Amino acid sequence: MSELSEPLENYLKEIYELEESKGVAKVVDLIEAFSISPGTISKALDRLESLGFIDRKTKRIRLTDDGRKLAVRLIKAHRLSERLLTDIIGVDWIRAHELAHRLEHIWPEDVLDKIDRTLGKPATCPHGHPIPGRESEERGQAISQMGPGKYQVQMILREEEWILREAQNLGLIPGRNIEVVENRDGEIKIKLDDKVIVIPRSLGDQVIIVGNK
Ligand SMILES: [Zn+2]
Ligand SMILES: [Zn+2]
Repeated sequence: MSELSEPLENYLKEIYELEESKGVAKVVDLIEAFSISPGTISKALDRLESLGFIDRKTKRIRLTDDGRKLAVRLIKAHRLSERLLTDIIGVDWIRAHELAHRLEHIWPEDVLDKIDRTLGKPATCPHGHPIPGRESEERGQAISQMGPGKYQVQMILREEEWILREAQNLGLIPGRNIEVVENRDGEIKIKLDDKVIVIPRSLGDQVIIVGNK
């Protein structure tokens, strides 16, 4: 389907994920996400625009229908690859994310469908991000934004190594019940099972929770 290079596919995917998490994708976010120069990103965006995958208005980037279709396909392949690696092959969720960056580019459509069926059409990746088309109605917020109360972990926002490692060590994984005990500046006190622990705000910004029913 695509004759795009891997870096260009990655920019498209990041634009989609920025729209998903922030509502809008901006050039400065891409520069930060990929640690690349403004010159490099502007060349890449020119190319994506000339191919009809994005529209640009001032500093804001929007996916066209074609761009969105391709981004969704890549995201779906990424998240299902992660599930395949963690659930079937038994790889930890840090390596699963890293390997999925490569696998997402290789699956033919029919093979991806088979993977999806083998996995029982999961709703999310292991980190809680929705498989496109299976988004949950409930939009969570970061622990750091929440007052005291009972919640459930919905997702880990950025799948960076240090975040995933700390979240895993503490048991902050999607589906887990947690209680926010105290949330003041600096640190956040939470309760997991019967243990009270203090987490740094930087981690609290990355763990998304939803109200517990
Ligand atoms: Zn990932
Ligand atoms: Zn993931």
